[in-house]
Amino acid sequence: MPPFCCAGAVTTYPSDNRSKIVSIRIPESLRTQIDAADGRSCCYCLTSEAVSGIPLTYDHIAPASRGGLTTFDNVCLACRACNEFKTNTVRAIDPLTQESVPLFHPRQQHWRDHFAWSLDGTKVEGTTAVGRATVVALRMNHALIVAARRRWCAVGWHPPLIELKRR
Ligand SMILES: [Zn+2]
Repeated sequence: MPPFCCAGAVTTYPSDNRSKIVSIRIPESLRTQIDAADGRSCCYCLTSEAVSGIPLTYDHIAPASRGGLTTFDNVCLACRACNEFKTNTVRAIDPLTQESVPLFHPRQQHWRDHFAWSLDGTKVEGTTAVGRATVVALRMNHALIVAARRRWCAVGWHPPLIELKRR
């Protein structure tokens, strides 16, 4: 997978043809609005920039390569892992029903309506078809992030309360 960086004013992601990288400039005023709304946390897995120490990216919820607009309603903060695994995906398979469903939409849906934390706080669990499909598609419980969450839980930095403040 080619490295790509969405920090700052430019977001990039692989297009359908993964050899081609598309860059979209995010206006500063829009970045400011998104940063304030999203609390400097990933809208999918809720990883906090301050906790991870890794700059977040700006994700086009409906990918620009599929006609998604660069507007507040269609751009949100995402951690690099969620953004990289999401690429230009808009639908995924619910592992429980095998049904193809849309991915979670952070601007139109509430995190708590589709996800919950595992009892030990280390894993995101989908509670709906959309949530389950999004967890799998974005690999929200890959081994490295689960190990990191375990450490964050040990010192009280996780699970975040951001979804309670945001929604
Ligand atoms: Zn994330």
